[in-house]
Amino acid sequence: MKVTKFGGSSLADAKQLKKVLSIIQADPERRFIIVSAPGKRNKEDIKVTDLLIEYAEKFLASQDTSMIEATIIERYTEISEALNLSTALPEIRAYISNLKHTKHTTKPRVMDLFKSSGENCHAMLIAEFLSSQGSPAVYIHPKEAGILVEDMPGDALIKKEAYDTIRQLRHLDKIAVIPGFFGITDEGEICTFSRGGSDVTGSIIAAGVKASLYENFTDVDAIYAANPNLIPNCQAITELTFREMRELSYSGFSVLHDEALIPAFHANIPVVIKNTNNPEAPGTKISSTRSHSNQTVIGIAGDSGFTSIYLSKYLMNRELGFGFKILKVLKQFNLQYDHMPSGIDDITIILRKEQLTEELEAELIVKLQEELALDEIKVKHDISMIAIVGEGMRNSIGVASRATAALATHKINLEMINQGASEVSILFAIDENQEDEAVKALYQAFFN
Ligand code: ASP
Repeated sequence: MKVTKFGGSSLADAKQLKKVLSIIQADPERRFIIVSAPGKRNKEDIKVTDLLIEYAEKFLASQDTSMIEATIIERYTEISEALNLSTALPEIRAYISNLKHTKHTTKPRVMDLFKSSGENCHAMLIAEFLSSQGSPAVYIHPKEAGILVEDMPGDALIKKEAYDTIRQLRHLDKIAVIPGFFGITDEGEICTFSRGGSDVTGSIIAAGVKASLYENFTDVDAIYAANPNLIPNCQAITELTFREMRELSYSGFSVLHDEALIPAFHANIPVVIKNTNNPEAPGTKISSTRSHSNQTVIGIAGDSGFTSIYLSKYLMNRELGFGFKILKVLKQFNLQYDHMPSGIDDITIILRKEQLTEELEAELIVKLQEELALDEIKVKHDISMIAIVGEGMRNSIGVASRATAALATHKINLEMINQGASEVSILFAIDENQEDEAVKALYQAFFN
């Protein structure tokens, strides 16, 4: 059996829902359907989730919510009427209107309750639609499905014990339509994953029911070897490994939610990315091994918004506990670091800039200086991390030199090079302004 997830743009209106219906009906193994909230119908449109956030904000500010409620309800009404449905809509209307009568008062709880209702209502509607078209389906709330999560509003994490309950869904004799994006805490509260989290639900259900495949339907034909908006006729990736995908999505590939692969990876369930608007296209398969293992580099990604903090001290390498002291300071400041390449007497901390404010940065510098008695400390903002990714690199000589030669030809200065122990990726820190040029140069070097 397969778990099949459809993203917001695949479910944005009645026209899209008809495509989804034929995809589901084309394969009887598609037994678990995970749905997003209705997404954008065109570039200017607003996602239902964003409308719900606006609704929650108005509610929290004790403002009039009637207009925004009506806008949200209208999205479902339009779809329901175009598909001649009648049962789910009254329930959806009541659900959306009743959100403002919640007993919750804290922002995180209110936000999660409101945000989750986009997927929740759409699952009700889609279950009705499938049943009306000769594919008997049931709507299953995450509580009933057993999607038990840690109580971390807006950033939920699945609990290990959830999988045993989810497994019971295998016995259903109808298609299960499950809303993505949220789970239930031990106290029975709704808690959402981070944005885009319906991908995570799909992966959890796939792992729970031990599906043969997790299909993720979106609006692109495949994952591309680099940003297709940057590279005309960019090569599509047909197959890649979980590790390669993880590296690419960390470095800026945004087709799939960052955390979505973890459950599928642990349960060894292959994932395929497909296009609702072109289901015949083979898509991209992600699994533990790939058959084209001779391909050295599979993708090139770039991500901006990093800051580097360079620390240097004579005889640093001889000082016991130096690294430990750095980590202690970072922990005190509640900062996550992404990389920490080091030399003999120097070390660079690379972290996401969004974590720092000007004051925090100033305090951090003082503290590091105080704790470590440094000779030099230098902060640099606006750094991009460029990654070249591929399992094949492990057994191939000269990848780094090819990459650095390509970057040098384009006069791109390297702030740092980092090859992880896994040898699945090589990362280059460069000036943010040169990110696009660097990706193009590397694409040219490895794909053309
Ligand atoms: N609707 C949610 C969002 O926009 C979750 C999702 O679509 O995956 O973030």
